Amino acid sequence: MSKKQTEESQLTLLEFDKKHVWHPYTSMSSPLPSYHVESANGVYLKLADGEKLIDGMSSWWSVLHGYNHPKLNAALIEQSTKMSHVMFGGLTHNSAIELCKKLVQLTPAGLDRVFLSDSGSVAVEVAIKMALQFQQAQGKADKAKLLTVRNGYHGDTFAAMSVCDPVTGMHQIFDKVLMKNIFAPAPSCMFGETWQENDIEKLAELFEQHHSEIAAFIIEPIVQGTGGMRFYHPQYLKACRKLCDQYDVLLIVDEIATGFGRTGKLFACEWADISPDIMCLGKTLTGGYITLAATLCSSIVAETISNGDAGCFMHGPTFMGNALACAVANASIDLLFENNWQQQVANIEQELITLLLPLKSHARVKEARVLGSIGAIECISPVNVATIQKRFVELGVWIRPFGKLIYIIPPLIINKAQMKTLVGAMATVLAEDNCFI
Ligand SMILES: *Cc1c(COP(=O)(O)O)cnc(C)c1O
Repeated sequence: MSKKQTEESQLTLLEFDKKHVWHPYTSMSSPLPSYHVESANGVYLKLADGEKLIDGMSSWWSVLHGYNHPKLNAALIEQSTKMSHVMFGGLTHNSAIELCKKLVQLTPAGLDRVFLSDSGSVAVEVAIKMALQFQQAQGKADKAKLLTVRNGYHGDTFAAMSVCDPVTGMHQIFDKVLMKNIFAPAPSCMFGETWQENDIEKLAELFEQHHSEIAAFIIEPIVQGTGGMRFYHPQYLKACRKLCDQYDVLLIVDEIATGFGRTGKLFACEWADISPDIMCLGKTLTGGYITLAATLCSSIVAETISNGDAGCFMHGPTFMGNALACAVANASIDLLFENNWQQQVANIEQELITLLLPLKSHARVKEARVLGSIGAIECISPVNVATIQKRFVELGVWIRPFGKLIYIIPPLIINKAQMKTLVGAMATVLAEDNCFI
């Protein structure tokens, strides 16, 4: 063994991780601790030291039916005995066809064409490229910018970043390469409030001023997730649809976080009773098992692109239509209906209303919000991530707050007692000064 090999072999696994492995949005020079997961089952993450944590995060919004689910496992195993993957150029297969059929059937009317890709950010890139190619193909090449609202989050790749909130998306760092897009204020009339028509005024002005240079308007429907866990009024989304029609701008709806029941509707668009021209899906698509995303569009968008100069849509990932991912996605969608997802979400919402909303009266809490299976409290000061995380683990839960927000979005199979433990842990840390900055 070389000297380097000897040194490395003496590190424990966790030490190696800390020294060599990037984790998301964490410093490599003074990293936050990573907890070592050995396995996961149902709603529980089991740590290497034997401790079991109730997962309040669904592994970043993706797990629906719990970990290590026999039916999802079986779908993967069965598919793997046929083939795990084949290229999608010139080849096709049952798992992908079946999935696309389901997506066309379940999503809002008019979304008839499906483009499969690897991850949410890529699905957003695909949506943006579709919009640009569509405008070019209909002879409107000047329509090459995007319009969006502040507080948005659409992923970490470049086009996606260019429509993320300029502050939290750190636009200044990437200023030289990011597309220069147009930002309206975030919706301020919230879900459940009385609709205020003037909430749309500034956005309407921007449409009027800039429509000749705007290819598409992109927005997260009803829930602005990573940009602040804000739930806005469905009338806002309805108005967006109208403005897009009026100014020949495509409406891209990013349902990556909200899709498959999270908000109490199968897709959050349904709150506003609208169909977008393009829709992005990801996160829950495979029930949290494997990375997979989809971008759906209308026939008009697909036909116009295909009849344009390029003659086709210019994108094609290596792992497009991955058979393992499609097979587990099919099984996950079937389980949603077998398990009556509406009832599952309604049960979680009821627990959140009973247990989490009252935290609003705590001195440290500015606001508490609940929609479907999503519950969030916005604190007056930011959390101390390292201490609060450690406390949550001691309390037997996995909750990962960011900024001033402590939120949970548990797997749909969570029961009442587990909900009580999750929200109880939130209440406990609120009383602890060292968990906050
Ligand atoms: C998570 C997320 C994305 C990005 O998905 P990745 O799979 O992380 O690339 C895009 N849009 C929204 C709304 C998201 O929540």
